[in-house]
Amino acid sequence: VIDDLAEARQRDANDPCGQFRARFSLPEDVVYLDGNSLGALPVATKAVLDDAVARQWGRDLVTSWNRNGWMDVPQRIGDRIASLIGAKPGEVIVTDSVSINIFKLLTALIRLRPGRRTILSEAGNFPTDAYVASGVADMLGLNLRLAERDGVLAALDDDCVALLLTHVHYRTGARFDMAAVNAAAVERGIPVIWDLSHSVGAIPLNLHEMGSEYAVGCGYKYLNGGPGAPGFVYVAGSKQAVLRPALQGWMGHHAPFDFTDEFFPGQGMQRFRTGTPPILSMLALESGIAAFDGVDMAALWRKSVELFTYFATLMTKNCPEFRLVTPADPMQRGSHISFAHRDGWPINNALIARGVIGDYRHPDILRFGLSPLYTGFADVWRAVDALADIMRSGEWRRPEFSVQSAVT
Ligand SMILES: *Cc1c(COP(=O)(O)O)cnc(C)c1O
Repeated sequence: VIDDLAEARQRDANDPCGQFRARFSLPEDVVYLDGNSLGALPVATKAVLDDAVARQWGRDLVTSWNRNGWMDVPQRIGDRIASLIGAKPGEVIVTDSVSINIFKLLTALIRLRPGRRTILSEAGNFPTDAYVASGVADMLGLNLRLAERDGVLAALDDDCVALLLTHVHYRTGARFDMAAVNAAAVERGIPVIWDLSHSVGAIPLNLHEMGSEYAVGCGYKYLNGGPGAPGFVYVAGSKQAVLRPALQGWMGHHAPFDFTDEFFPGQGMQRFRTGTPPILSMLALESGIAAFDGVDMAALWRKSVELFTYFATLMTKNCPEFRLVTPADPMQRGSHISFAHRDGWPINNALIARGVIGDYRHPDILRFGLSPLYTGFADVWRAVDALADIMRSGEWRRPEFSVQSAVT
């Protein structure tokens, strides 16, 4: 036994955010530390989906678009997300995937700056961000420049048409100084698209205060929307009217049911809609976000910081062969903690076999998500205790833990 489990349990009992764990349906025998990849299932979601299927779809059928307000769902949920990220009602719309939303924002912003030829992003950014940017660059005859993380600001120049950055890095958990990046880019007339996938629902965000004008984010991570839940787009109110997304779907038209031959963009964020919204997924996402009702994001973040410190301390003491790669300063990171170890893949599999679910990111990162709505101190204790035991016993060397799989 590495430390006192009773003490961890006591900390859970005293935790002002501890009550929120009951909003989630988590298996008893599992320590879930991957809410940054797939958020846990809220207890309320099953009833929400039962109603959506049986009553709204099954009984009300197509009349649900009006009767059950299906047309307004993307905006309604967008407004809930807005309140989590310091945006105003009408500035966020839920639609499509993060990848598609990056495409829509990027192409719309490029149209406004015809002379500029370079899209700038970070080397080692989340792959989809770089892939989409690279596809856009190829299509439009532009260049994609991937700068090293600490060289991004120095790479901003007058040829730069847009800067695409992920706020919290998916592997290391390192966080960009959003306000500083925005200030440096705005000075050169460069719009910044922030990917909030690993920030939203985890750390307090105030996009307006930080000077952020464009963002996208993910619905199935800390927002608990369920596998493949739709993502969202944010555009500051003053910037919406001039943007023309290149993906002109009928749901982005200002009056889709006029069925006109010509496309007229919808009001505000409506123009970022494309096709028919996936209502079942949307309603599951709404239920996931409802798990934040009455939650003080500042208190939640304080808890995340405490969980991180506890995790790092236990690891230093009991698993010193793992190297912490996440910045220790809370202002410079998000809500997951990552360690490097060259045998990360089999070690992570051995952990999963013991019911401790984190994940592995190529080539050597063990990543543990701290979702403070439902992760507790005893979870952290159990995870490190299992890891220490796996290392001590050499259990991770068993051949079955080295087998490759499609999803890591
Ligand atoms: C999870 C994640 C995405 C997901 O993109 P999808 O198109 O919704 O699959 C995008 N960007 C980042 C940084 C992510 O972490």
